[in-house]
Amino acid sequence: MEKTPKSLRLHIGLFGRTNVGKSSFLNLVAGQDVALTSPIPGTTTDVVEKAMELLPVGPVAFLDTGGLDDTSELGAGRVDRTRRALDRSDVAVLLLEPNRWTAFEDELLGEFTKRKTPVIAVINKADLEQPTAAFIEAVRAKIPRLLQCASHPFTGAERDRVVHQFKEHLLEICPDHVVAAPSLLGDLVPPGGLIVLIIPIDKEAPKGRIILPQVQAIRDALDHGEMVAVCRETEYTALLSQLARPPDLVVCDSQVVHRMVAETPPGVKCTTFSILFSRFRGDLARQTEGVSAIDRLRPGDRVLIAEACTHHAVEDDIGRVKIPRWLKKHLGFDVEVTVCSGRDWPDDVASYSLIILCGACMLTQREVLARIEKAAAAGVPITNYGLCISHLQGVLPRVLEPFGIEQKAQSKTAWAGAPS
Ligand code: SF4
Repeated sequence: MEKTPKSLRLHIGLFGRTNVGKSSFLNLVAGQDVALTSPIPGTTTDVVEKAMELLPVGPVAFLDTGGLDDTSELGAGRVDRTRRALDRSDVAVLLLEPNRWTAFEDELLGEFTKRKTPVIAVINKADLEQPTAAFIEAVRAKIPRLLQCASHPFTGAERDRVVHQFKEHLLEICPDHVVAAPSLLGDLVPPGGLIVLIIPIDKEAPKGRIILPQVQAIRDALDHGEMVAVCRETEYTALLSQLARPPDLVVCDSQVVHRMVAETPPGVKCTTFSILFSRFRGDLARQTEGVSAIDRLRPGDRVLIAEACTHHAVEDDIGRVKIPRWLKKHLGFDVEVTVCSGRDWPDDVASYSLIILCGACMLTQREVLARIEKAAAAGVPITNYGLCISHLQGVLPRVLEPFGIEQKAQSKTAWAGAPS
């Protein structure tokens, strides 16, 4: 993997009315033509993403949005995608025309405030119309971090000034989780400790590589001076028997959690990748609480399975086949399971009795928390794959031990044997 994954980048959303110069500003910062620019309103037809290294800030991804004020027929979908970009932005850049602040800008600022998104204001096209001192002060009163930018042409010195000032503002308002990124698992084990990762190589495993959560776990362990041993579930007991001492932590794919717990000696900490990601990107306490809703489900209740990326469903797919089957086995009756994938999120989320989010390894923390907040706002409990599967298989208390969190409600029925 040569590049920093998207989910680890600071996401910077560019917002403002149509043709205010969002794409031009992105090109200015990137130093190249990333986004198509044109004086015709609405040239950016979708959210354009540009990943780059913005030193000293680090790896970032710009989201160049269409105008939220686009009233064309085509614009309706564009406005929807732009609103989703609001949920994904760690930082918002509000581009303004000189001396023009209307209800539209007020509404956007309200959206940022609602999401607690830090904002930088850019008064663009300052070469075409001089912003008045009163306008600058009025903007600064609402958004303290502000810079002015000419449209074009830019001299090298002008570009350097704008980019330098922009980076300074970014560093000042960077969210804590970007400045001091939390640890995925390294903090659970002392330096020099040994971590065993159990990685099934099944039909869902991509050819010739391991997936992002597994790569991130290895890197985080190395960052913390820990050692890692990797095996499939079929070699796990053989690996344990060859170790001079028990490992400090064992982490497995959720699908083999029952087997891992059965074969892990008492006293050895163990958990799943998905539960690690609930703590890393989501809200482990809230998602653990959400898992108890499984035992309150009634026949016919609606359950939403939300997978954060789209993939070709394989036979015995985890979200579409295995979890629905294990739910039925646990409950003894049918519930109505709906699967949504990618950035889709149903409008009628309140009609569900439970949401089960995937491990969400491809999402940023802000995106995961936005989904958790939306579920909370609709009064729907939310959990994730690892917590759900561990609960259904009767091993949740054991896999929560490394975090000092207890399952609030106990399983209605014990897991009857190995998963099928
Ligand atoms: S579906 Fe979810 S857990 Fe699976 S790879 Fe995508 S983001 Fe990660």
